[in-house]
Amino acid sequence: MKRQVTIIGGGFAGLQACRALRGETAVLLIDPSPVTTMLPALPDVAGGWVPEQIIQHPIGELLPSCATHLQAAVSSIDLDAGTVRAGDQTIPYGHLLVAAGSVPNFYNSPFPRDRMHPLATLSDAVRIRADFEAYLRETERPHLLVAGTGYTGLELAMSLFFRAKAAGKKCTVTIVDPTPILLPSLPEKQRQYVLNFLSAQGADVRLGVAVESFDGRNAVAGGTAYENTFFCWAAGSEFAVPEIKGQVERLRDGRLKVEADLSLAGHPNVFAAGDAAAIEQKGQVLRKAVNFAYYGGRHAGRNLGRRLRGQPTRPFRPMDLGWVVPFHETSIGRLPGNIWVHGRLGVRLHHLMCGIRNYSFANFAGCLKLAMKGTHT
Ligand SMILES: Cc1cc2nc3c(=O)[nH]c(=O)nc-3n(C[C@H](O)[C@H](O)[C@H](O)COP(=O)(O)OP(=O)(O)OC[C@H]3O[C@@H](n4cnc5c(N)ncnc54)[C@H](O)[C@@H]3O)c2cc1C
Repeated sequence: MKRQVTIIGGGFAGLQACRALRGETAVLLIDPSPVTTMLPALPDVAGGWVPEQIIQHPIGELLPSCATHLQAAVSSIDLDAGTVRAGDQTIPYGHLLVAAGSVPNFYNSPFPRDRMHPLATLSDAVRIRADFEAYLRETERPHLLVAGTGYTGLELAMSLFFRAKAAGKKCTVTIVDPTPILLPSLPEKQRQYVLNFLSAQGADVRLGVAVESFDGRNAVAGGTAYENTFFCWAAGSEFAVPEIKGQVERLRDGRLKVEADLSLAGHPNVFAAGDAAAIEQKGQVLRKAVNFAYYGGRHAGRNLGRRLRGQPTRPFRPMDLGWVVPFHETSIGRLPGNIWVHGRLGVRLHHLMCGIRNYSFANFAGCLKLAMKGTHT
């Protein structure tokens, strides 16, 4: 069978596209990672509450027989030449799906990277877990400094705070963000709920404040010095492929603007899905979320199949199934029908979602067990 579709990224979007193309064509899936990961559970793994085994699965075991996994990172896409650069190879493509997700944005910060602790991959989570455990062992009065008051920053802060508590250490927590509002997409009442929970744990949330310096140990933020701090960076994300050559419209964070069928304007043989794509609905770009990636990837795969058969493509109609963000003991979430959830119910739903969207029965069963317990501890 001739290789006809190249997919960059074996996360939710890339794998669903691969499955949708089963029996249609040969697929080359390019991803540097040997495993696919349930990213929403990363803060749980970083805090040592969830074993990493139940949030990962080898990509090779999930691919249909028509697909081959090339374990390499794509460094460049040339839309004019119709090639991708992966490792030291230049690979021509006939049809392409960009589903490489996103990576942490360090905004060219001069701080030592190996001490900044971003949380975007399974290895980041495992490293945070090990580093934080060592830090707790060695430190009399631990202090956690988190840059970024998005969901990742807040979830990670609480996961580590409760880890310190379980270890019998009183860990002070400071969470800073240069933007003036915490979780701006939430209504005021829900935002206040999150703030009240964080304050009740003693977390100091400093909005309108950036980290000014960090030497790997000591930091200054908003004029306040923090000594011997454990620093986590959750201040933003950007497009995962470093270079794109050719005409394409993008958002500031690099996401590719797509047409209604998820193809790129002017490049009918190139599609994007998941966190790599900027999908507009009712005048707003969809948030980065598992369900949009899952169904978007599947839809892009089906449209690629239609293109190959010479049939018209169909528009993607995203359905918002709601969201839940767990803060270790409590949660905030919105279900379809504008129903808000708080407390342990949301923690249960979070683990349930991690199980349902997981890739093996063992992983599903592990997550279900956590959902039934309704707590991390
Ligand atoms: C800490 C954290 C918590 C989250 N919590 C939630 C949540 O509670 N609910 C929710 O809905 N969403 C959550 N998200 C967002 C959600 O995980 C993403 O929206 C979703 O994973 C996007 O799927 P994707 O397939 O586009 O990308 P990903 O799942 O990120 O997969 C991208 C794949 O591309 C590969 N890749 C990266 N760069 C390259 C490259 N240069 N070349 C080739 N391959 C590459 C990666 O290895 C990866 O396998 C969270 C994300 C994070 C990081």
